[in-house]
Amino acid sequence: MTSAKTLHNFNAGPSILPKSVFEEASRAILDFNGTGLSILEIGHRTPLFQAVVDEAVALLREHMQLLPEQEVLFLHGGASTQFMQVPMNLLDETRRAAYTDTGVWASKAIKEAKMFGGVDVVCSSKDSNYTFLPKNFTVDPSSSYLHLTTNNTIYGTQWQDLSLFYDKGVPLVADMSSDILSRRVDFQKYALIYAGAQKNIGAAGVNIVVVNKNALGNASRKLPTMMDYRNHIENGSLLNTPPVFAIYVCLLTLRWLKQVGGVAHIEAENNRKAALLYDTIDSLPLFRPTVAKEDRSKMNVCFVMENEQLEAEFLALCKQEGMVGVKGHRSVGGFRASLYNALPYESVIAFTELMKHFANTKG
Ligand SMILES: *Cc1c(COP(=O)(O)O)cnc(C)c1O
Repeated sequence: MTSAKTLHNFNAGPSILPKSVFEEASRAILDFNGTGLSILEIGHRTPLFQAVVDEAVALLREHMQLLPEQEVLFLHGGASTQFMQVPMNLLDETRRAAYTDTGVWASKAIKEAKMFGGVDVVCSSKDSNYTFLPKNFTVDPSSSYLHLTTNNTIYGTQWQDLSLFYDKGVPLVADMSSDILSRRVDFQKYALIYAGAQKNIGAAGVNIVVVNKNALGNASRKLPTMMDYRNHIENGSLLNTPPVFAIYVCLLTLRWLKQVGGVAHIEAENNRKAALLYDTIDSLPLFRPTVAKEDRSKMNVCFVMENEQLEAEFLALCKQEGMVGVKGHRSVGGFRASLYNALPYESVIAFTELMKHFANTKG
């Protein structure tokens, strides 16, 4: 028997999805669209699955308001594979790319890019453990592209004003794994966007890649078939067997997003959730936020306590009260509450009430 206790899932990824998505995905495992077949046993080249891909692409195009030349791909290998696939396709061996070093994922992207061409790290906050976003930097206009991480999942920083990047005069590449579709962004400005689905869009096992066709074909190296974006574009993400179920879960989440009011609506909800949690942290001296105020992420909220003994006590209380996934990443310590699209406002209320209660008993 499962317990009746309400759980509040603050996991950083894979993470919470809408309950209706879990329910519909479960039904599809037993009987997909009344066909009598499971979604797990249909061919990826059947009209049944083609309809799933087509609708998921159409919904992404709509949510992101993409240009006709921006192609939507569903690829394997996680966002981490994009760390290499991006420079393989966009960075010629004789050229240089600019990278912003704002966290663990950004630095992993830098490491991979160095294998394919020149890399200029144009800014870094590594020396202060990535607690802020370095905004004063220049980019060599001859760079093949400028790479940024829109939200730094582990440290809890997020570029609030992306227009900072729009006048640099070089093509933009963004890792949007942990905040894609959480707020309105001018997605048309990007040569390439990638995001692992498991944080805001769906189940683990698939990447969303949005690539402007005009940005391709500038690297002279030979590309293995599976690494060449052009092959995936030509084959509509069906170059080989795609992660069928993971793409289906993306479709369900994209439908849900449309139904609740789209990106603008979810942005307002996300602002409300983040404001409540940060206001609570700021009002309780027991808790200390870890990053610069202006760079605070609305997706991953990180904070610590001065007293490690109290941290352990609060963590135990969280566990007892059904707060899931609030332990901070090992490189920051303390706590991290992830407030992705599907997390209800009520979960933030429950968590902040628990924080206040704990502060009262320890104050
Ligand atoms: C989680 C995450 C990744 C890594 O994703 P994988 O799918 O596990 O490879 C990369 N970048 C960011 C910003 C992330 O949050």
